[in-house]
Amino acid sequence: MTSIRGMVDKAALVDALERLGLSPPCHLMVHASLSALGVVEGGPETVVSALREVTGPEGAVIIPSFRGAIRSEQYALTQCQTCHPQDLCPSREEGTTGVIGETVRQQPDSLRSCHPTHSWVGVGGDARFLLAGHRYSQTPCGKDSPFFRLMERDGKLLLLGVSVNAVTNIHAVEDARNVPYLSAIDPANRHATYTTSGRRMQYVYPELLNAVLREAGLLHKGRVGVGDSYVISARELGAFLWVVTEDDPWCLVLRPRGDNYDPFQDACLKAARMAEVWKANPNRDAWRDLLAASAIQQEPVAFQPAEAPATDCPAYRGVIRGYHRCAANDIPPWERFEDYPLFEPGVATCDQCNWPESSRGENS
Ligand SMILES: [Zn+2]
Repeated sequence: MTSIRGMVDKAALVDALERLGLSPPCHLMVHASLSALGVVEGGPETVVSALREVTGPEGAVIIPSFRGAIRSEQYALTQCQTCHPQDLCPSREEGTTGVIGETVRQQPDSLRSCHPTHSWVGVGGDARFLLAGHRYSQTPCGKDSPFFRLMERDGKLLLLGVSVNAVTNIHAVEDARNVPYLSAIDPANRHATYTTSGRRMQYVYPELLNAVLREAGLLHKGRVGVGDSYVISARELGAFLWVVTEDDPWCLVLRPRGDNYDPFQDACLKAARMAEVWKANPNRDAWRDLLAASAIQQEPVAFQPAEAPATDCPAYRGVIRGYHRCAANDIPPWERFEDYPLFEPGVATCDQCNWPESSRGENS
């Protein structure tokens, strides 16, 4: 696995990726942490070279080159804002999603999808197919975005040294499902955010969603370098999420329950419910319904600060900085994480919450 100098080399990376089931031709959507792999001989170039080898010349490697953090000063590609949407984006501006993504972006044959905040870059013979539809997405993960194109090609997601909290495209399912907590706030940049963006199971308790997907036999784990990596089929991830969000469109967000606001308890109950629902209906073809739903342009549910908040809700925190606040919501985009403590209450959006009708799972 490692050379005598203790470094991970390209042959070891290719071997580990093959043992995760990757072989050419393969379409791969990658989320990666270079440092989680250990010391890689040749650095990110070696990782990209190994990814190209296991996908083959007719496959594709795509990876985020996002500037999508709405609170960030590097928000959105300025060149993409002025170019008309087109099959591929001419912007060469850097992304802010990691060194491996930057290395892919700098490959001589690299292509880029046309989206101001959630642009993907890619290499390989079929990268154009995965990237070219993104221009049609009204939201970062909407219609014809790379996740849906990846499902069409029966591609896979590779979580290289990272876990499910890195999977941007859980939002693709939320978009297609038009979940009640979705919120369009920046149409100019085709950016939707989510009223509870920081209070999601995959961000707060990634190990729970990871365990559910492992238990379902969908998420495959392997050692790459010194860290754990995972592979999941785009179709199977899509099918699973479509089935569980049909059962409960709130299952990916942590909400109050009854007279209790306990995010961990809610996450545990929701994780158990997802596992149960999938076990009862392991419909691996449900990705087709997800793909069909993604083509229907929906009017997103708009972010609505509560005018008459549920002050008896256990997550209600009173008026802070001019807004009724909810501990189950993250701070809104106009407030910066840097300015407030972690888990500072967000703006209450009681008309977009399922409390008090949120006892699902407690009866089962
Ligand atoms: Zn563009």
